Amino acid sequence: DSVFANIAKAPEDPILGVTVAYNKDSSPIKLNLGVGAYRTEEGKPLVLNVVRRAEQLLVNDPSRVKEYLPITGLADFNKLSAKLIFGADSPAIQENRVATVQCLSGTGSLRVGAEFLAKHYHQNSIYIPQPTWGNHPKVFTMAGLSPKYYRYYDPETRGLNFQGLLEDLSSAPSGAIVLLHACAHNPTGVDPTVEQWEQIRQLIRSKGLLPFFDSAYQGFASGSLDADAQSVRIFVADGGECLAAQSYAKNMGLYGERVGALSIVCRTADVASRVESQLKLVIRPMYSNPPIHGASIVATILKDRDMYNEWTIELKAMADRIISMRQQLFDALRDRGTPGDWSHIIKQIGMFTFTGLNTEQVAFMTKEYHIYMTSDGRISMAGLSSRTVPHLADAIHAAVT
Ligand code: PMP
Repeated sequence: DSVFANIAKAPEDPILGVTVAYNKDSSPIKLNLGVGAYRTEEGKPLVLNVVRRAEQLLVNDPSRVKEYLPITGLADFNKLSAKLIFGADSPAIQENRVATVQCLSGTGSLRVGAEFLAKHYHQNSIYIPQPTWGNHPKVFTMAGLSPKYYRYYDPETRGLNFQGLLEDLSSAPSGAIVLLHACAHNPTGVDPTVEQWEQIRQLIRSKGLLPFFDSAYQGFASGSLDADAQSVRIFVADGGECLAAQSYAKNMGLYGERVGALSIVCRTADVASRVESQLKLVIRPMYSNPPIHGASIVATILKDRDMYNEWTIELKAMADRIISMRQQLFDALRDRGTPGDWSHIIKQIGMFTFTGLNTEQVAFMTKEYHIYMTSDGRISMAGLSSRTVPHLADAIHAAVT
């Protein structure tokens, strides 16, 4: 008999499991709005032209070898990633107060940051928004932190519960870590305004809380890399400390290359260098050092002015297509006279719309219309096209009437 005979079958991942179910459906009209990956108007995955160009340069360069990277990853990539999120003129970068390490996309960056905090920081409570990306509580728990929720979303207004957020962060213990989505909050698509960010900053600083930004969608939300980094830059500008986990999955379409970075902004260069030395001790026993290919693509693009510009244009095109899908879906529901206020579809930003559909309505749409999404009613706008909007609008209409 197997020594593993007593192992129970684990449930599918609530997000990635949606695609597993979708793949099993043989209907020609099936539609996958579960997974957070960009699709073209034709429903196909997209490799950016600038990424293809960078890869050509890399393969044609005979000096490129496949040696191990250092534990902290590709040095150029780390510098350029910090500049991208904090801004080229950021005093924190100029003063050498930022420790940046290349990690395995956004998830790996969150995990390394969390492991570091669990080992070296005096508080292990991390406040995460309610709701949040389903992987957050798992990543932080596995790293040894203790997740607590702060109020974030108001189902009544389908907007921000700003009062609840301020109250919950006010009553958090001094020093607690606060996870903030830098932009395009997942799953709600609801972000604080710049004025609200400023109030959140004041509260976090006055209580001595430690901000940890998750930046998985820089440039992908509004189409502007700078606008989408505003929240992070407001915090760094006050000279205080924070962490930031960056992902290039969405904004460069490098999903499977697993390329991201963790930056820890410190008070002084001396602290930053000691922090970096400890990050190496976190990373070495986990995976030794990160993969070279994706980081080389990113560094190639970020350091060349012409390629950087091409990237920003392609990035804006992806963001714009998503924004136009919001408008088309909103118009289609209005044309059908679907009961309810659907204006949140055009107000929310980023990859997802938090529709407000409940579990039963989602199950109905999957069963009757072969439309797949997470059971909380979150749909990926990036998975929609002009061709599929009518089908989705029909399904929503039927689900709510
Ligand atoms: N944070 C958030 C909020 C996300 O939505 C995602 C992607 N779904 C990630 C982090 C990390 O993704 P990845 O590890 O693919 O970069």
